[in-house]
Amino acid sequence: MRIVVLTGGIGGARFLLGVRAHAREVGAEVTAVVNVGDDLRLHGLRICPDLDSVMYTLGGGADPERGWGRVDESWTVQTELAGYGAEPSWFGLGDRDIATHLVRTTMLDAGYPLHQVTAAVSARWQPGVRLLPATDDRLETHVVVDLDGAQRAIHFQEWWVRYRAQLPTHRFVFVGADAAKPAPGVTEAIAEADLVLIAPSNPVVSIAPILAVPGLREAVTDGPAPVVGVSPIIGGAPVRGMADRCLAAVGTECSAAGVGRLYGGRSAGGLLDGWLVAEEDAGTLVPEVTVRAVPLRMTDEAATAAMVRAAVEMA
Ligand code: GDP
Ligand code: CA
Repeated sequence: MRIVVLTGGIGGARFLLGVRAHAREVGAEVTAVVNVGDDLRLHGLRICPDLDSVMYTLGGGADPERGWGRVDESWTVQTELAGYGAEPSWFGLGDRDIATHLVRTTMLDAGYPLHQVTAAVSARWQPGVRLLPATDDRLETHVVVDLDGAQRAIHFQEWWVRYRAQLPTHRFVFVGADAAKPAPGVTEAIAEADLVLIAPSNPVVSIAPILAVPGLREAVTDGPAPVVGVSPIIGGAPVRGMADRCLAAVGTECSAAGVGRLYGGRSAGGLLDGWLVAEEDAGTLVPEVTVRAVPLRMTDEAATAAMVRAAVEMA
C-alpha cells in the first residue's frame, strides 16, 4: 500500500508519527508532501520550518515542548547576532538548527534543487517516510495586513512569529505559486498512491499553499486514490496554534464543518472523499463527503496511529 500525506509542520509531523506507525504494521510506503510557504532566508540562511519540523520529529531530534527546532538546543549564535543588532531578531534560530540551515543553503547555492537537498539532509535523520517539498520553486506565503496606518504585505513568519497573528488581516498571498511546478516525484507519488491523507495541519497556511502549486491540486482531485482529510479543529478550536486566526481571515468558521466545507467534496469539485472529525464533532455534515467521528487528539503515537487506521478504513 502507498500513502501520500499533504502536511504542514508541527501538527502534520505529529500526525506522521502515527502514519509511520500504522505503515510499519501493514507494510505501507509513505510519502509526505510538505508545505514550503513558510520558508524564508535570514542571515543568508535558507530556512524550511515545516520540512524541518517533520524531519526532526520523525528523526527523534525535535524539541517536544516547543514543537519546532532541536531538542537540547542552545542559542549562542542568536545572542551574538543580537549583539550586532542584526535584524530580524524575532525569529528563533538555535545553534543545532543552524547547522541544518548551513548544509541546506550550501547545497542550494551549489545548484541542487530543494527536493534533492531535502533527501540529503534527511538521510541523517532516517525519518522512515519519504519527504518531498511541494515544490522546488520559490513559493512564499505573504499576509496582507494593516500596519503603521497602511495596508502592507508581510512574510508569513513575520505575521505569525513577530505579530502573533494579531494584526488586522485581509488575505494570504502565495507569492510565486503561479510559476511553481510540483517538485519531481510529487505528482508521480500522488498518481501511484492507494490513499491520500490531508494531515490535520493548518488548512489556510499549510495545506492551501501546497494545493496552490499548479497541477498539484489536480493530481489529487483527478487521481485514482481516495482522499481522506483529518480535522485540525476539535470542538470549535484548534488544539494548539492559531488556526482560528487564519480561518477568520479567510471568512471560514472555525469548526470541523467549516474546514470540511472549505476543502469541499471531491464529487462537487473539492478535495475530499472522507472527513475524519473528533468525537466532540459527531454529527458534522459536509455535502458530498463521508464524515466519521473518532478520537482525534494526538496525545501519543498509538492514539495517532488509531486515527490513521480509521482514515484507512474509511478509504
Ligand atoms: P505548523 O505548520 O507548524 O503550524 O503545523 P501544521 O499546520 O502542520 O499543524 C498545525 C495544526 O495542527 C493546528 O492548527 C491544530 O489545529 C492542529 N493540531 C494540533 N494538535 C492536534 C491534535 O492533537 N489533533 C488534531 N486533530 N489537530 C491538532
Ligand atoms: Ca507551518
